[in-house]
This record gives sequence, structure tokens and C-alpha cells, in this order.
Amino acid sequence: MITAQAVVYSQHGEPKDVLKTQTYEIDDENLASNQIVVKTLGAPVNPSDINQIQGVYPSKPEKTTELGTSEPSAPCGNEGLFEVIKVGSGVSDFKVGDWAIPANVNFGTWRTHALASEEQFIQVPNPEQSKTRGKPNGLTINQGATISVNPLTAYLMLTHYVKLIPGKDWFIQNGGNSAVGKYAIQISKLLGFNSLSVIRDRPNLDELVSELKALGADQVITEEQNASKEFGATIKSWVKETGGEIKLALNCIGGKNSTGIARKLANNGLMLTYGGMSFQPVILPTSLHIFKNITSSGFWVTQLLKNNEDLKKSTLNQIVDWYEDGKLRDAKSIETKFEAGGEKQLHELYIEGVTNSSKGKQLITF
Ligand code: NDP
Repeated sequence: MITAQAVVYSQHGEPKDVLKTQTYEIDDENLASNQIVVKTLGAPVNPSDINQIQGVYPSKPEKTTELGTSEPSAPCGNEGLFEVIKVGSGVSDFKVGDWAIPANVNFGTWRTHALASEEQFIQVPNPEQSKTRGKPNGLTINQGATISVNPLTAYLMLTHYVKLIPGKDWFIQNGGNSAVGKYAIQISKLLGFNSLSVIRDRPNLDELVSELKALGADQVITEEQNASKEFGATIKSWVKETGGEIKLALNCIGGKNSTGIARKLANNGLMLTYGGMSFQPVILPTSLHIFKNITSSGFWVTQLLKNNEDLKKSTLNQIVDWYEDGKLRDAKSIETKFEAGGEKQLHELYIEGVTNSSKGKQLITF
């Protein structure tokens, strides 16, 4: 028997008010033939995890009494990296020691262990396997635990909707220093697209610009520069130099920050909205629709990949390859280790993680 713990909620609300640690047993001596037991290596706190607990996110895990809770409860967390520690007799895709990530969202990754069927997981190489294949690097726990949302989002937004011509075309994004934004900068460089990233002004602006340029950013400007008519000429000259167009805008902020990037699109350009960090609606001037035929559309990685396992696997393989070859750098997380029987219960650690999310992505390791 394995004694496992999971962070669960039975009512929606603020995480500090509704999260609990549930302890439950996994009978690892009597597995069904297709079952595997995994132990968690790391699971992050994403903005969508918080919204899910608050009850304001459209996709939600089902509330059940499966983990032995007195009331129907749902496990928290959507992303995570796991190590296989036991396999049933008929399991063909996994062996003990393999690394795995959940195949779908709503798995409930804020837990120490899980019992699942093999179809519920996708294998990713552990460092030993990468080495055997002659790769210079293996995945780190942070890379594996945060692989299925942000890098996939950046890659798919850059490749799935608009055909950008390498060496010529540009994309523009706000929230250029967000985790997704940093992946978009790096992936666009790997694919040969030009990037124009808009960030908020700050006292250490030069430092942040240098950091983004070190990741491969072509141009980084402030919201004020992006809003300035005079500065528009500079942007036009950059685009003219490459002989391409700004065909794609990626919006994770909304409000006037979305207007700012939409205005820079060429005729027939597309703005994909994937986040709303300012909580303001997307604002698009009528003229952009009529005279420039701009399209504004939404992007949701969960929905796009829900019924498209092949796209998910091929995108994941590409990201894994880049990590193994040292071509892609992960967005760093602030890591906190959970000690079973330690001072803090698992849900207390995650509540702290939620609170500290404004200081950077939080990853609980096990
Ligand atoms: P991060 O926490 O890494 O970055 C947040 C970004 O938002 C920073 O650039 C920050 O800028 C900026 N920001 C925060 N508040 C404001 C504000 N009021 N006005 C302007 N800028 C602001 O986030 P992630 O990269 O993890 O996620 C970004 C967004 O994308 C989230 O909304 C997330 O839910 C969404 N997302 C959506 C996906 C989808 O499929 N639709 C998939 C993945 C993420 P600063 O440094 O200046 O504070």
C-alpha cells in the first residue's frame, strides 16, 4: 500500500479558503492489467489552476468521492511531471522509471502519487533515455512539469493559423516577458520568424530588454512606444528592412494593450487572444476591421488539443527535441520542495504557491 496525498476542494472559492489535503491509499499490489502507479516529480501553479478552483474557468475536473473524501471533491492542478513506479501486467507503453505527463487536463496533478490507466499518460524521455539516444541534455523537472501548456501554446499560435515566411515576416505580442511570451520569442527565432515584443515600462527596463534579446528577441519596445505615432515609423522601418509583414499579433493582456498590437498588423492580419491579464475586454477600432480586414480570434490550447492527440504528440516531440538539444530554455520557476511529514501540509504549500504566483511561476517538487 502506498499512502498518497492530494490537494482537493469540494466548494469553489479562493484557494486559501477551500483547499484541503486528502490522504488516501493506493493498493499497488493489486493493479488491473492496464494500470500504472506514478509518483509526482513536480507540479506547477498556473493561472488557470487558480481560476479553476475559483470556479471561473470553463473546464473543470469532476467532483467525486474517489479519493475517500466525505463530500464530492475535485483534485487540483493540470500540469505535472511523474515517474512510473509500478506497472500492471498488460501495460505496454510504460516501464518502471519512465517519465510521464498527463494526456489530458483536469487530471489533478497537485498530489504525491496517482493510480491511473496507461492511456491517461504520455511518456516523455527521462534524462537516462535522452543520454542513451545521444542527446546532449535530458529534461529537467521544471521543463517536464511545465511542458504541456506554455511552450505548446507559443508553438501552436506561431504555426497553426498563419503562414509566416521565415526571414521575412513578423509577429507582435504584448506581455512579451510572460512565460508564454518568452517561449514565443525563442520558438520564433528557431523557426526564423521576426519578433516584436511589447512590455510594460519598469525601473530595470534595460535589464529585461537584454534578457529577452538574449533569448532571441528581435525587437523589444514598451507599451508607450507602441502607442506612440512617432515611434510607429521606426517599427515600419524594421519591417521594411526584412521585406515582410506583421501578420500575427498575440494578445494575453486585453484593453488598450490589445488595441496597440492590433494597430501594427498588416492588412488581413490575425490577432489571437489567449489571455486577459488586465481583465479588460479586447478593444478593436472599427476601422481596423473595415479598412484592414483584421481578424480577431481566440486561442485555447485545451480545446485545440482535446481531440487531436497527433497534434499534441508531434508538438510535444518538437519541444522535447529542442530542450534535449539545448536550443530552447525553459521559463524558470521558483521551486519549493514538499517533505511528507514536514512542517507544512501539501495544500498549505500550494496556497503559498498561489499567493506567490505574482512573483513568478511556482513549482512544487516532490
Ligand atoms: P506569466 O505570469 O508568466 O506572465 C504574465 C504577464 O502578464 C507578464 O508579462 C505581466 O507583465 C503581464 N501583466 C500582468 N498583469 C498585467 C496588466 N494588468 N496589464 C498589463 N500586463 C500585465 O503568465 P503566463 O505566460 O503563464 O500566462 C499568460 C496568460 O496566458 C495568462 O492569462 C494565462 O492564463 C494565459 N494562457 C492561456 C493559454 C491558452 O490556451 N489560452 C495557455 C497558456 C497561458 P509585467 O511583468 O509587466 O507584470
